[in-house]
Amino acid sequence: MKVVYHSRYTEVYSYDPAASPGRIEAILKELEREYDFVEPQAASEDDLRRVHTRYHIESIKRDKHLYEVACLAAGGAIEAARIALEGEASFGLIRPPGHHASPDHCWGFCYFNNIAVALARLQSDNLIENALILDFDLHFGDGTNNFFAGSGVEYLQPSGRDGQSFVEEIINKFRQEKGYSILAVSAGFDRHVEDWGGQLTTDDYRTIGKLVKEAAERNCEGRRFAVLEGGYNHHVLGNNVKAFLEGLA
Ligand SMILES: [Zn+2]
Repeated sequence: MKVVYHSRYTEVYSYDPAASPGRIEAILKELEREYDFVEPQAASEDDLRRVHTRYHIESIKRDKHLYEVACLAAGGAIEAARIALEGEASFGLIRPPGHHASPDHCWGFCYFNNIAVALARLQSDNLIENALILDFDLHFGDGTNNFFAGSGVEYLQPSGRDGQSFVEEIINKFRQEKGYSILAVSAGFDRHVEDWGGQLTTDDYRTIGKLVKEAAERNCEGRRFAVLEGGYNHHVLGNNVKAFLEGLA
């Protein structure tokens, strides 16, 4: 298991809960003694252009600081995907998050769609044919869904009423989905019982990580990676990420 991380992810590029000071540090504290860290390159404009319109890229570029950090986040997702292709599980400890970034607009603390930029790059390099994306964030990843609708990449977000039905839905969907080249996860932790969603326990994240690992081993030679999306309670966020990675590793 590798963790993809850049020290610039701790920079405060915006006034929103995803960018708040101490958020990345809370996760870092739990992971830095456990895993090897890899520093990514920033995504290139060509990488962004596979997913986003020129208009959208220019609109983010107006804020130079934000643009630089957002390109590093997208680059972090590319690196995590590349490590997964080589057969090792990986986690992109990145920000800003990405799943609310559509080709021509964004909202919800997102700017570029990190997971889409990563998968589009692998497709463009002829390294994968298709993919399965599991998104367990509290919020629907409209940007990811918009970009991949009608493509070979399946976007899956459970909608369970409680923790148990949420996990069962993942088990059932994983049984149905077959024939993908890589399993990618939009890992948002805002569904936790002590975060905005009030639904999943820390153990549920460990279980979900394990389900991802097993599905990837059955279907795509174990190729799996996850990138950070939401999660706003700094007191529990680090532990939840750690539990998820224990299952995923
Ligand atoms: Zn969210």
